[in-house]
Amino acid sequence: MSDDHAAHAISAYGSQINATPHLDRLADGGMRFDSCFCTNSICTPSRASILTGTYNHVNGVTTLVTHMDNRLDTFPKRLQSAGYQTAIFGKWHLGHGPEHDPTGFDRWRVLPGQGHYHNPIMLQPRRDGRGHTIVERGGYVTDLITDDSLRWLDRRDPDRPFALLCHHKAPHRSWEPAPRHFTMYDDVDVPEPETLFDDHAGRADVVQAMRMRIMDLDPIVDLKAQVPPGLTEDAEIRWRYQRYIKDYLRVVAAVDDSVGRILDWLDHNDLADDTIVIYTSDQGFFLGDHGWFDKRMMYEESLAMPFLVRYPRLVEAGSVTAEMALNVDVAPTLLDLAGVDVPESMQGASLTPLLSGERPDRWRQSMYYRYWMHRDGIHVVPAHYGVRTHQHKLIGYYNDPLDQLGANGPADPPEWELFDLETDPAEVHNVIAQPAYREVARALAAELARLQRDLGDDPHPAATAALEALL
Ligand code: CA
Repeated sequence: MSDDHAAHAISAYGSQINATPHLDRLADGGMRFDSCFCTNSICTPSRASILTGTYNHVNGVTTLVTHMDNRLDTFPKRLQSAGYQTAIFGKWHLGHGPEHDPTGFDRWRVLPGQGHYHNPIMLQPRRDGRGHTIVERGGYVTDLITDDSLRWLDRRDPDRPFALLCHHKAPHRSWEPAPRHFTMYDDVDVPEPETLFDDHAGRADVVQAMRMRIMDLDPIVDLKAQVPPGLTEDAEIRWRYQRYIKDYLRVVAAVDDSVGRILDWLDHNDLADDTIVIYTSDQGFFLGDHGWFDKRMMYEESLAMPFLVRYPRLVEAGSVTAEMALNVDVAPTLLDLAGVDVPESMQGASLTPLLSGERPDRWRQSMYYRYWMHRDGIHVVPAHYGVRTHQHKLIGYYNDPLDQLGANGPADPPEWELFDLETDPAEVHNVIAQPAYREVARALAAELARLQRDLGDDPHPAATAALEALL
């Protein structure tokens, strides 16, 4: 798993901006999921959903500061109990200390919080089992995490099965490449996304007020001081996009190298046929799409997760599915494939039927999403929830700070957006107020209510009333 790697920066997904030969190898040998979504597009919460198979209102990890209770049921714990050797290396980002350090792993060595790209420190358990100790590392983080993973694989007991979580920090900001990739893309202009100059007209007011445009990058990476003088605003956006995307793609290149090393190790150890290999990321990312960087939003580029699964014993090489998969499906899928009982409390579904090439009659036709961090001090993205079907997406911005991270200001009137993904895949036309979409909106409102009821989440009363008034 990587952090913030959007599917549209993987050539197997049709990237127009980079090539990822090793990820493509994985896709060529397995199944590509074209409709895999996170249920909350932010790091810590999505990681908790992946490990536990539950939504954030159930596991309690709704924001970046609500760290995961390490007593929760997770797939590594269940695999460990079933006799698997388990390990995690790299990004944890679910909190530290006695209540949050990794559990369910025979071995772990993780970055503190976000960690650093170059010469990082890492945490690992003390030998006496009391808390963690700090290890100083020299080198590039993606390579170090891969080194640790391969060393653990080499030293494992070959007679027992294993579950390795190789979790990269990359390509999370601040996008610092490995020295071997410093000059990659120096001589090219990376193609711009179609919606780089999206003016957000017609979208919710609270979306238009977000500070996630390429022009807002300065608090995160110091571009302002570097911008050549005398540029028009459009020219500056273009210049900033090139700076941003090239570093992002350089960092992705090292992740792709890591995937290649792990696939090579499986080949050399004659384990490729017997090993389930998944590549995914905790969420997607805006690569200049809508003029934005970052994630958080229920819009496609942020909502979609890359999801590639190779398992030659079950999965047809080079296959593709458009059925919906979710981050909460990872845990039940891995337990199911390992022959371990999937607890009722896990809310995701095992993807085994899709992986084995079946086309189940009753597979999910919609998904529920909720982002909780209302208007933090940096990106100012509003809290929202919504439903996506194969053709439509309904999003409600309830505009109530509640008690969430960085909450500021009083409640404002809720706002709603509706997109027709068939006629408007770029999501630039909000059709919520169009009479032609009234029936669609009513059906989506009912589906959203059903999902919230089934999954045990509470609708926001003012948002529900505002939607009813529109319909
Ligand atoms: Ca992330």
